Amino acid sequence: MTKAALLGIPFDDNSSFERGPAKAPAVIRKVLSSGSLNSGCENGQNLKDNPAWVDCGDILINPQDDFVQTIESACDKLLADGTRLLTLGGDHSISYPLLKSYAKVYPNLTILHIDAHSDLYDSFKGNRLSNACPFARIMEDKLCVRLVQMGIRTLNQHQVEQAQRFGVQMIEMKDWQPGDMPSLEGPIYLSLDIDGIDPAFAPGVSHREPGGFTSREIINIIHQIKGPLVGADIVEFNPLKDIDNMTAQLAAKLVKEVAGKLIDTE
Ligand code: MN
Ligand code: MN
Repeated sequence: MTKAALLGIPFDDNSSFERGPAKAPAVIRKVLSSGSLNSGCENGQNLKDNPAWVDCGDILINPQDDFVQTIESACDKLLADGTRLLTLGGDHSISYPLLKSYAKVYPNLTILHIDAHSDLYDSFKGNRLSNACPFARIMEDKLCVRLVQMGIRTLNQHQVEQAQRFGVQMIEMKDWQPGDMPSLEGPIYLSLDIDGIDPAFAPGVSHREPGGFTSREIINIIHQIKGPLVGADIVEFNPLKDIDNMTAQLAAKLVKEVAGKLIDTE
C-alpha cells in the first residue's frame, strides 16, 4: 500500500515581504476537519478512515535551529519507509530542505513547480535561503534531473539568466493555454506555491500577482500529472491576507486532490 502523510511546517522566517504562512498548516487542517467539505477526492479516492492517509503533525523549528538541517533530518526519517509526504508550508524556503531529503531517496526526480515567481534568485535581500531562492539552491545541489515551472509571470533579467544557467524548463503563464501540460516522467515532486493561482481565487498570499490559474485549471493540472507523484508541498498560503477563508478552502481542496493523487499511483 502506498502511504501518504500530511506534514505541517509552520515556518515563515524566510518570507521576503510579509509574514503569515507559518499560520497556514493549522488553518488548512481546521478546514479539512470542519465538516464544510467531505473527504472524497475527484479521482475516486476517499481520505476518510483511509489507512493510506495519515497526519504526521508539524515540524517545529525553534529560533536557534538551522531550519535546513531540522527539516531535512525530519524528512529523512519520514521517507525511510516509502511514505509520500504532502507538506504544508510555510514559506517557499522549506522546499529546499525537503528536496535535499527527497533527492537521497529519488535520485532521478522531476520537479513540477507551480508559482507566479520562478524563485531562482541567487540571493534576495542578502538571504540565499529566502523564499525567492529555493530553486537556485535545488539546481546548484542537483537535487532533481529536471525542473519544470508553470504559472510564471513576473520574470526579470537575472531570473531569465538563472533559468538558462540551470536548464530550467519554464512554461510562462503568457504562453500557456488551458489543457497544456508538459509530459513528465516519474518519479515526480509537485511544489505548489498558492500565488501561482490567480489572486481572484486565492487572495490569501503575500505576493498577489494577477493573471494566474483558475481553481479549476490548477486542479486539472494536478489530475494530469502522469507517472508516480511521490511528494508535494503546498506553500505560501498566508491566512493573514485571506478573505472570508476562501484561500483556506481552496488550499484544503488542493490537499484532497494532491493526496488522492499521492495514494493513487504506484
Ligand atoms: Mn510565488
Ligand atoms: Mn514561490
